[in-house]
Amino acid sequence: MSLIVMKFGGSSVGTPERMQRVAQRIIERQQEGNDIVVVVSAMGDTTDDLIEQSKLLNSNPSAREMDMLLTVGEQISIALLSMTIEASGGKAKSFTGWQVGMKTDSVHGKAKIVEIQPERLQEALKLGYVAVVAGFQGASEAGEITTLGRGGSDTTAVALAAAINADICEIYTDVDGVYTTDPRVVKNARKLDEISYDEMLELAHLGAAVLHPRAVEYAKHNNVQLVVRSSFTKNEGTSVKEEAIMEQGVVVRGIAFDKNVARITINGVEDVPGVLANVFGALADNGIDVDIIVQSGTQNGKADFAFTLASGDKDKAISVIEGIKDIVPYRETISEDNLVKVSIVGAGMVSNPGVAAKMFATISSLGISINMVSTSEIKCSCVISAEKLNEVVVALHTAYGLDATEQAFVGGPSERR
Ligand code: ADP
Ligand code: ASP
Ligand code: MG
Repeated sequence: MSLIVMKFGGSSVGTPERMQRVAQRIIERQQEGNDIVVVVSAMGDTTDDLIEQSKLLNSNPSAREMDMLLTVGEQISIALLSMTIEASGGKAKSFTGWQVGMKTDSVHGKAKIVEIQPERLQEALKLGYVAVVAGFQGASEAGEITTLGRGGSDTTAVALAAAINADICEIYTDVDGVYTTDPRVVKNARKLDEISYDEMLELAHLGAAVLHPRAVEYAKHNNVQLVVRSSFTKNEGTSVKEEAIMEQGVVVRGIAFDKNVARITINGVEDVPGVLANVFGALADNGIDVDIIVQSGTQNGKADFAFTLASGDKDKAISVIEGIKDIVPYRETISEDNLVKVSIVGAGMVSNPGVAAKMFATISSLGISINMVSTSEIKCSCVISAEKLNEVVVALHTAYGLDATEQAFVGGPSERR
């Protein structure tokens, strides 16, 4: 007998029929003799719809009220899924995040899990119930409702799996597993049988939505056995593990891209010690994460520097920078939106010189200029203008020998696209 966490994403429970199919699958897994904890996301487009609804009434709502609103989506799912399991002859009990002791810090909209006290959930399991838990949500020490960031239900699932020492955490989604790149963009992307935690972590951080980055972090640190598979088919998924076998001669495991990129350039900054510390310190104090930073050479004692950040943080960042103009004088700021970051990831890159050069050559052969570059031992990222993203991803996929010989199979039609 195993203890299994099964997580179902929004499109997997997007319609009553899909909900029934999921319920059936859960019951089957329980009847094989396993204890089952289910984590579920909001149905279909519910989270996006709630965000749209909020915008009609307040263009800048407080993060606290947004969390109060968005957590409703998952609560609908847990109740409906539990009822569906009951209607199919099973026994299920739904739990909100706070009911399963999901304690987070108090950062609304991107809270981090601090501790889990899963006793109630374990009691339900002992009584033979399927425990159906709302993903993406928790509560702070002060009893405020929080959310873990978009896509955060994956993190709920992995964190719960670690807390209850589950044998496996299965992430059921609308594709067959982790592919060499988003199979919706590259039709002959290839499904990977396995991938290392480190590579998956990079891909997730660099924009591959298939897993929430923090979920991968949790899995790595707690050695959670993690599998990504389709909720529509019984095909074997992708195993995410400490070390994954690399095919001979393949150095790049996958390609990710992030469309949510803005760039701010600050021109004419006094080139004195402490400038970067002041600017990025102020941004960090305001909860703004900065990604790639580039400083140009100094001319007449003045320097220019540029950095990328999430598009949604751009306006706030500009006002933070304006707010410290007394401390860090500069001539002007320029901000751009129409950018994307495309990245190649692979553990083999570190020992293979020329991998990054091939990326630059492939992109420039399409007549596209590269605005910014950032590299690490296992990835290389280029910021380019958004228009030709798909063309670039397809070209890189071929250049690094990732194309499948046959067309990739995508598990089922997504309702969200
Ligand atoms: P869920 O609602 O199940 O959490 P998501 O939309 O968050 O589903 O994640 C699944 C989607 O991730 C897929 O439909 C696919 O378009 C996208 N995706 C991006 N990169 C990859 C990749 N490398 N492998 C598989 N899917 C990917
Ligand atoms: N419903 C949330 C979202 O859409 C959480 C999740 O799906 O993982 O981001
Ligand atoms: Mg997701």
